[in-house]
Amino acid sequence: MSEVILQQTRVAQGLPYYNKFVETYPKVEMLAAAPLDDVLKLWQGLGYYSRARNLHKAAQQVVELGKFPSQYKDLLKLKGVGTYTAAAIASFSNKEAVPVVDGNVYRVLSRIFHINTPINTPAAVKEFTHLAAQLMDKEQPDIFNQAMMEFGALQCIPKNPNCASCVFKNDCVAYEKGLIDELPVKPRKTKVKNLFHNYLVIISPDQKTLLKQRDESGIWKGLYEFPLVETPGAAMVSKIKDSIEFKDLIGELRFRESVYNQQPIIHKLSHRKIHATFWIIELEDYMEGLSPIKDAFKKPVHVLMERFMNEYWRDYKH
Ligand code: SF4
Repeated sequence: MSEVILQQTRVAQGLPYYNKFVETYPKVEMLAAAPLDDVLKLWQGLGYYSRARNLHKAAQQVVELGKFPSQYKDLLKLKGVGTYTAAAIASFSNKEAVPVVDGNVYRVLSRIFHINTPINTPAAVKEFTHLAAQLMDKEQPDIFNQAMMEFGALQCIPKNPNCASCVFKNDCVAYEKGLIDELPVKPRKTKVKNLFHNYLVIISPDQKTLLKQRDESGIWKGLYEFPLVETPGAAMVSKIKDSIEFKDLIGELRFRESVYNQQPIIHKLSHRKIHATFWIIELEDYMEGLSPIKDAFKKPVHVLMERFMNEYWRDYKH
């Protein structure tokens, strides 16, 4: 649980989530049997939701196996468990001699041995894992792995590492050649794609609304949101009302529209920049298939939805 939570999250942010999860699901069988919506709801706010979906799936795999795998090669078969997580679990809990390679380990090894291979690439994973395996104390793989990561986190830090007091300063090529700021070599950044999301906040005369579950693949898969109209750029209200999605949804119903945010709300993801606009559609007629606004707070939603609902519907929250 902690290794999955800490895959892209700092300890201070992840700890309350870890506590919530082990309190709610003290046994792996309970997590496996829980509805995915409940797991996503508990994960809400932590980001990278594929981790929650994978954790849920992995719990089901463990229940099916009848025990938690302890070997590196078997751990890799669990959904969402990659080489880093499998190595961490296998070495910490079972003292299996497999090296972990995280950002800290990349930094330490690339500097001491002057390795120019861009990190986080398949070639780097192979090269750094091979090197770490050669250096590893096979009797104490758990201590070795933790020491490597701690050394990178505390001593050989990204900016201004503490070289003067470093035990490796006589062997470190980066220190000797003055290359510390150039290492590790980062992979080239992928281009960020702009997405324009127009959310239709339907409000009926009896204070009901409509949420839809995202079914496509992607980071927000399985989460709920208002009906979405995606446009190629920032859109005027006429464009929204002319869209197929809007016409299919509203049809002949009478409504008043307004915009919640004049300026799009920007949300940055690793490869995408979302420009979100919330359009308030107050219906004058009744519509089928809506649910009370209060119930929307029970659904797992992504961060843009959460912020909007907490602000716009704060009176409904409790
Ligand atoms: S000498 Fe400096 S750069 Fe080299 S390992 Fe030590 S702290 Fe890192």
